[in-house]
Amino acid sequence: MKIIDGTLISKKINEKLKIDIEALKKEGIIPGLGIILVGHDEASEIYVRNKLKLCDELGIHHELYRFSSDVREEEVIDTVKKLNQDTNIDGIIIQSPLPDSLCENKIMSYVDYHKDVDGFGIYSLGHLLANDEEILAATPYGILKMLEHENIVVDGKNIVVVGASIIVGRPLAALLLNRGATVTIAHSKTKNLKEITKMADILIVAIGKEKFITKDYIKDGAILIDVGINRVDGKVVGDIDFASVIDKCDAITPVPGGVGPMTITMLLYNVLEVAKKRRNK
Ligand code: NAD
Repeated sequence: MKIIDGTLISKKINEKLKIDIEALKKEGIIPGLGIILVGHDEASEIYVRNKLKLCDELGIHHELYRFSSDVREEEVIDTVKKLNQDTNIDGIIIQSPLPDSLCENKIMSYVDYHKDVDGFGIYSLGHLLANDEEILAATPYGILKMLEHENIVVDGKNIVVVGASIIVGRPLAALLLNRGATVTIAHSKTKNLKEITKMADILIVAIGKEKFITKDYIKDGAILIDVGINRVDGKVVGDIDFASVIDKCDAITPVPGGVGPMTITMLLYNVLEVAKKRRNK
């Protein structure tokens, strides 16, 4: 049984990113990221802090735009428009979730699709579905990089993705389909979930329910990717019950230290990719 070490894999990619960013800087281009954060969601504060920290480590310029939760939608949209025009900014993130008073889809629709480094915009998602990939959403991209690093082939495999959100399950399913996997997406209305998950050569879980997937949900020798981040008694645990499945699976990503660090790395990878395109302008 192998534990897939996301922290280690992300560190390797970060080292390469750092070298590429230094090279780009010698050409006078400093990659830049603009983040819009509304309100004081505890998890968002942590995610943004981690993103900014890695930006600093890699040498990416960053600007954080903070708004109180009663901000008017127009004010946020004006900031998006300003960042769209800013030639020092390559990527724009609208940190999710936004307060209910704001329409996330509407605000996202103003982000210049060239700068959609989260890959959640309609243009990026449309290209992904059309198997003409542009910017890939960071969490699915991170999972793909982990599988590649471990030489786990997806072509021809039965892959079950549990969770159908726009930030994980849906783009991930499309990305795997583009690479020749047979993909099943399960969600909260799926009947007989266990029967479906037991068919999976690779089972990927992103539902936000602590330790939900036990050994009864998997087949012998399955590869398990745990996307879940659940805070329980001051600890972070995944959607998969690690202790229950450990003797039955072939490989598993731990929580923490699995998909999480890969997500931030691939986000900044996207920022660098956009910045590189400035060279050709
Ligand atoms: P979401 O709430 O937007 O979507 C959850 C999905 O899970 C839905 O499609 C829902 O139908 C499905 N679901 C819920 N309960 C289910 C059940 N009992 N059986 C089957 N399906 C069920 O969540 P999200 O934003 O996709 O996040 C999911 C989890 O992944 C959360 O814990 C989140 O914190 C985590 N996450 C981690 C990373 C990372 O970098 N590691 C990135 C994004 C999200």
